[in-house]
Amino acid sequence: MPYLVRENLLIGNIGDAAEVLQTGTVDNHHVTHVLSVLSSASVSFFSEWRTGFSVPVKEISKLHVADVDSAGGKTALSPEKLLYSLEYAGHDLKLVRMAVPLRDTESEDLLDYLEVCVDFVDRSRKEGGKVLVHCFAGVSRSAAVITAYLMKTENLSQEDALESLRQKCEFVCPNDGFLEQLKMFEEMGFKVDQSSPIYKRFRLKVLGESHFSGLRIDSSKLGEDPGMPVENSPEVQEPVKVENNRSPTYRCKKCRRIVALQEHVVDHIPGEGETSFGWHKRRSGNPFNKSNESECSSIFIEPLRWMKAVEEGALEGKLSCVHCDARLGYFNWAGIQCSCGSWITPAFQLHQSRVDISRV
Ligand SMILES: [Zn+2]
Ligand SMILES: [Zn+2]
Repeated sequence: MPYLVRENLLIGNIGDAAEVLQTGTVDNHHVTHVLSVLSSASVSFFSEWRTGFSVPVKEISKLHVADVDSAGGKTALSPEKLLYSLEYAGHDLKLVRMAVPLRDTESEDLLDYLEVCVDFVDRSRKEGGKVLVHCFAGVSRSAAVITAYLMKTENLSQEDALESLRQKCEFVCPNDGFLEQLKMFEEMGFKVDQSSPIYKRFRLKVLGESHFSGLRIDSSKLGEDPGMPVENSPEVQEPVKVENNRSPTYRCKKCRRIVALQEHVVDHIPGEGETSFGWHKRRSGNPFNKSNESECSSIFIEPLRWMKAVEEGALEGKLSCVHCDARLGYFNWAGIQCSCGSWITPAFQLHQSRVDISRV
């Protein structure tokens, strides 16, 4: 039986969703929109259940997909990963369903799906629909999505939003990885800000987990080489996009080739130990304040396409300039300690002494 969280917003399990897909109704709630958050295997398994439809029609609709496109290329999101369907049962029943492939594990990337999920729920309710958000058990994934929705629409902290949800459905319990990601969502102002240090660290952590799970890190997973001319854009002749003229550019000290831009830098909190990667430990002030930067002999950046040794699959190795072969730094998927004491994991490090920082 689903639980009513807010007017026209229900949380439920796969059984509730099955009932809705067959009859349009569950526990006397006439549901018009369904958000399914299931592993990809379960999403397809789920569609088998639709054989009970008297008029089974399924159209993959382009609804909302434009929003996904605007999320840009750096996230795990791609329109193909979200399944939208318009479903009909009987003559008078119309359901809009969105399915998001997500497993209930701590390392799963929930963050990149949050905005599109929150948006689906918001839009559906504003259209006057009644929404069921469900996963398999109705405990972790669906609860995480609804928590994010309450955080954003009611301006609540992660803790308060979850507490408010628990008042309606006491057994909800998003896994710890999801809770951490919801905290990041809060710290980024209830959105997913790809330029934020919080987001950059998150992407790096996800990449590190891919590496250790044996996934090949090919060039598609690495950031663009800022030293290469921009291809396929004849109208832009400049070799490097420079967002504003105060943003530093990092160059090889020996040959002056550009090796990184400010946007590639992954800041850390000088002097903090391993906890510097516990996002939830950040509480107040501005921990990314640059005042202590001089203590650090290293600059940590995201992995970029000029780092051939990274693509070759090594756990660690030297980072050398692709133009003059000068040694610039080191990388290690298991982490490197900065001179300030902080551990950065995974780490792609440039020695301050091997690069010039110029403000173009
Ligand atoms: Zn060089
Ligand atoms: Zn440092």
